[in-house]
Amino acid sequence: NLTQRLAKVVKTMRGEARLTESNTAEMLREVRMALLEADVALPAVREFIAKVKEKALGEEVISSLTPGQALVGVVQRELGALMGADLGPEASQLSFAQQPPAIILMAGLQGVGKTTTVGKLAKYLKEQKKKKVLTVSADVYRPAAIAQLQSVTQQVGADFFPSTAQDKPVDIALAALDWAKKHHHEVLIIDTAGRLGIDEEMMKEIAAVHGAVKPIETLFVVDAMLGQDAINTAKAFNDALPLTGVVLTKLDGDSRGGAALSVRHITGKPIKFAGVSEKLDGLEAFDAQRMANRILGMGDILALVEEARKGVDEKAAAELAAKVKSGGKFDMNDFKAQLAQMKKMGGMAGLMDKLPAQFQQAAAGANMDQAEKQVRRMVGIIDSMTPQERAKPELIKAARKRRIAAGAGVQVQEVNRMLTQFEQMQSMMKKLSGGGMMKMMRSMKG
Ligand code: GDP
Ligand code: MG
Repeated sequence: NLTQRLAKVVKTMRGEARLTESNTAEMLREVRMALLEADVALPAVREFIAKVKEKALGEEVISSLTPGQALVGVVQRELGALMGADLGPEASQLSFAQQPPAIILMAGLQGVGKTTTVGKLAKYLKEQKKKKVLTVSADVYRPAAIAQLQSVTQQVGADFFPSTAQDKPVDIALAALDWAKKHHHEVLIIDTAGRLGIDEEMMKEIAAVHGAVKPIETLFVVDAMLGQDAINTAKAFNDALPLTGVVLTKLDGDSRGGAALSVRHITGKPIKFAGVSEKLDGLEAFDAQRMANRILGMGDILALVEEARKGVDEKAAAELAAKVKSGGKFDMNDFKAQLAQMKKMGGMAGLMDKLPAQFQQAAAGANMDQAEKQVRRMVGIIDSMTPQERAKPELIKAARKRRIAAGAGVQVQEVNRMLTQFEQMQSMMKKLSGGGMMKMMRSMKG
């Protein structure tokens, strides 16, 4: 599964300072797969991957992160931005005309949830925005559709303008507008007929309604479960109408919602609302970052990045192993790196029983808190050494010991103890082959 695949990649990309073509390629392939699995249309996937690449390449990787983690950050940020996170909270607000009524025109295929959304919007506008709302149905093809709108409108306590299947959509819209003006409605929501697929006649009809009443909001309603097809539908509606926003319905389903990305790719219009239930209170302001995370399955990935952050730096371990194997000397720098490694692996408590016997003896009897403090002090002592001393600890005699102890704020005895532990570690390293070293580091990770 995706999480496991990414876990693998995040791990293999450790220890590089910069994002490059080669250390991001595999990760980007996985992101691409994730998007396709979420049913994002291919052109939208391509555009997104290209954008991420452009933003990521050359980006420095801060030292506490691996390139994989850094790239996950870029992906998450860019997808959030593409979903509209940078547009700010105003993006999900509706505009209201200076001259009431503000007209909202609903557009979209049949069955996506237009009529239901009219009811939800009427409820939201009435209760949250204290608006006087009128609804009307220009869906003259299915008589049941008009009755359905009447029913949801009455349920939320808004006003309903009756129409009949014999009327023309443009006439219905104009008559409702006239009525709304006379009765001081602040918002008029016009529901329209959808079709099962894209249809020339439908597009002409809704464009005519748009031209007649000049709505301030033209909302494209799209079903989050629609998948790859969303891109063609969005294109057809976007070409026929000057859309002002999108409503993404049925997000309560189990789709990842890749349609959102396809629709943003084509229209560039803000997704203003999300439908999250069949019920009339199931409407939410669209949350771009949450949607981005959902599309990527990012909850899992972020948890995984956390996990990786705690892990052993395999590359450092491998370098050390190579050094030991090639007869290179284990010096104070290596010792310090190992101490730092131990801190990363969740402190001494989780580590003691995995350590080689010599080391366990060294810390025997000490409680774990003390042991951790001791590691910190040991690092402090190493930090007080000159680079030369770190590379050749045998240089450290009495005068140097006094200087180092003063620098680290410890007694000279402690410097001695630390040097003894270092020597134990050094002799152990000599005994270990490269493979043994790796095995040891891995078993520490447990
Ligand atoms: P229209 O043809 O575009 O007007 O679509 P409708 O409003 O008649 O809705 C079609 C179906 O989708 C109905 O069964 C609705 O109850 C359902 N529906 C609409 N919005 C949502 C939503 O956000 N979540 C869920 N689960 N169902 C929805
Ligand atoms: Mg309908």
